[in-house]
Amino acid sequence: MEHERIDLGLVETIEATDVGEPGKRTFKITAESPRGRAVIWMEKEQLFQIGLAVRQFNATEEATANPTDFEPTLGPPSSASEIEFKATDIRIRHAPSSDTFTIEAVDPATEDEDVIQEPLATVQFSFPRAMAIALSKQALEATERGRPRCELCGGPKDPDGHVCPKTNGHHKGDFELA
Ligand SMILES: [Zn+2]
Repeated sequence: MEHERIDLGLVETIEATDVGEPGKRTFKITAESPRGRAVIWMEKEQLFQIGLAVRQFNATEEATANPTDFEPTLGPPSSASEIEFKATDIRIRHAPSSDTFTIEAVDPATEDEDVIQEPLATVQFSFPRAMAIALSKQALEATERGRPRCELCGGPKDPDGHVCPKTNGHHKGDFELA
């Protein structure tokens, strides 16, 4: 199966939102550039990890993922696309040279869940740090809504427990936020 790579380049708008009733919510990132518009549906945990990664990066000024020398593609725009899918795999990375973030999402295009297919398409889009920070806030607000928050990392605590990235899963009993 042909693997298509769609690069929307630098987006003009990007937004993280949750949709639906409590307990049945779904999560998405919508990005739009002159080349097209992508709606990437994802699991709550995926959106949460994106929000957390940007927040931690911004707090430490150090990349949490492997930095690359990626530069936003500025080639001739393809015909504007409208893309919408549920991503199996979604990643965010940072390019120190341009201080831009890039989200890359894989569309499995799975028609039969019993058959493992090659990914049909990878969609990516890029945005500067200021937009990443706004996206991070939206992502964390959307995923934390209605959940108690961890006092260490700010992440949502699920009823069945919480593996805290700040403590490698172990909370320090004597730590409290002022
Ligand atoms: Zn935590």
